[in-house]
Amino acid sequence: MPHEVTPEDLSAYLDRELDAAALAGVAGHLASCPECAALLQRLKGASAAFKKHGLEPAPEGMVFRALRARRRGGERGAPRRLGFAFAMAVIVVVVLAGGVAFKRFMPQVFEQIQGMIGKAAGSLGR
Ligand SMILES: [Zn+2]
Repeated sequence: MPHEVTPEDLSAYLDRELDAAALAGVAGHLASCPECAALLQRLKGASAAFKKHGLEPAPEGMVFRALRARRRGGERGAPRRLGFAFAMAVIVVVVLAGGVAFKRFMPQVFEQIQGMIGKAAGSLGR
């Protein structure tokens, strides 16, 4: 006996998107078809899992496109940002490590470097 309902019908049945006549047809078929009843249970489980994680089922193509777009953007932006972050990290380490020694033993040099950093910081802000 051919199935009178499709998986799409079952999905619509779960989401209460069927009109009264279609609903009655699906409900009637489910009562007499263990196969479709089992499929409905699987769909229910998947639907509950999506709701539990606060996710809406998304078409696979959409997800993959979003992932690819993010990867492309990352490849373009990363090296430049990484270089800048690395330079800033080196400056911070040099200032912190060297600054303590300079301040103690060479106050004048420390003041010169402080001035240079102040100028550099000012030019960065512009
Ligand atoms: Zn069936």
